Amino acid sequence: SGAKPDISREKSAQLYEKAKTFFPGGVNSPVRAFKSVYGTPLFIEKGDGCYLWDADGNQFIDFCCSWGPLILGHNPAKVREKVIEVMANGMSFGAPTALENELAELIISNNKYIEKIRFTSSGTEAVMSAIRLARGTTKRDKIIKFEGCYHGHSDSLLVKAGSGLVTFGETSSAGIPKSFANETIVVSLNDKEALKKAFEDFKEQIAAVIIEPVPANNGLLLQDKDFLQFVRDICNENCALLIFDEVISGFRVGFEGAAGYYDIQPDIVTYGKIIGGGLPVGAYASSAAIMSNISPEGGVYQAGTLSGNPVAMAAGIAQLTELSKSGFYKELNNKTQEFADSIQRYATAKNYKFKVFTIGSIFWFAFTDKDKIQTAEDIDPASMEKFKMMHKELLNRGIYFGPSGYEVGFISAAHNKVDLEKAKRQIFETLDLVFRT
Ligand code: PMP
Repeated sequence: SGAKPDISREKSAQLYEKAKTFFPGGVNSPVRAFKSVYGTPLFIEKGDGCYLWDADGNQFIDFCCSWGPLILGHNPAKVREKVIEVMANGMSFGAPTALENELAELIISNNKYIEKIRFTSSGTEAVMSAIRLARGTTKRDKIIKFEGCYHGHSDSLLVKAGSGLVTFGETSSAGIPKSFANETIVVSLNDKEALKKAFEDFKEQIAAVIIEPVPANNGLLLQDKDFLQFVRDICNENCALLIFDEVISGFRVGFEGAAGYYDIQPDIVTYGKIIGGGLPVGAYASSAAIMSNISPEGGVYQAGTLSGNPVAMAAGIAQLTELSKSGFYKELNNKTQEFADSIQRYATAKNYKFKVFTIGSIFWFAFTDKDKIQTAEDIDPASMEKFKMMHKELLNRGIYFGPSGYEVGFISAAHNKVDLEKAKRQIFETLDLVFRT
């Protein structure tokens, strides 16, 4: 069968024209502008379970899931009802509430890697604060990050590798002073030598190494446990702190995130996305000793008008309560593995240069014949042309993916077997079309 006709994007296009008069690029976060795929962005009207509806009434099976938070799917009754119940008592007090205790207890009592936590309102804020905490604790200024890991848009972290094994970061955004970028050293993932050299070159200056233990913002660059353990060990040897940025992997690859998945103890962990059940929440957590450096106990300042917001806490409590039930992750992860395996079998049987990488309920489609992709440099930018074709055809077939081939897909508890079978059929036919041209 051939390519499907284009869906109507008339209403979305009108809304986009209007949005462009209000917002730079017509959006409030850049990737939403569909710049790396075909067509105007879809304006979403409604979500329910694994389904999305846009302004033109098109219906999609959603594999973006708001970029990760919606592990129970859209608008799950348990979360919605709890939010409505709490909201009836008011929406913000800027004072402590019992709900903060409840969410913290649910997290800490089910996670052996952390003792204390602080809630923020986004992942960016959580990571920015974790870096400040690491610097304040170690009384050192420099941090090491990995090329291909994204940690939100704070100044210290919008840096990319220059040329060379160990480099000072180059800012990856205008508006960041060079002097800030000079405090961030960027090395390749899966490169022990580069990390060793960074610690030698900047002896006793490294406050922390920050890594997405499941790098999922530049493809899915799954690391070997051996490498993550190496990162842990070299931090210990150099009295530097290890920060796991688990904004995506936290509560996704398991309730204890990647720390639990690999059983590696980080010094500081950051969370976001799932922790807020679809409302704006982030968090950073650590040992009681390290967290005692945070204001008002210690000298590292961090605050927020809406931090620990009761409505957001309610959503988090309701969602994490579901995730903490026995068997939740097993079922979700098995479902994802079956989905990924069957797409991989199809592509392999047809000799397509196509790989499905997966962990937990995260997956990534890569137009490659490599069995492993572990560094940003391993991704061929030219392969993104095929993703663009695939993305457009899948939208026309009622399947919604994030609008970039560098983004991963998510499966939620609301994606049932019938939905996944339906999606698979469309993906198979789309692969046939993409590889025919
Ligand atoms: N860290 C990681 C690993 C992320 O994936 C993201 C967001 N995609 C962030 C930090 C920033 O989170 P937020 O968008 O909530 O600021």
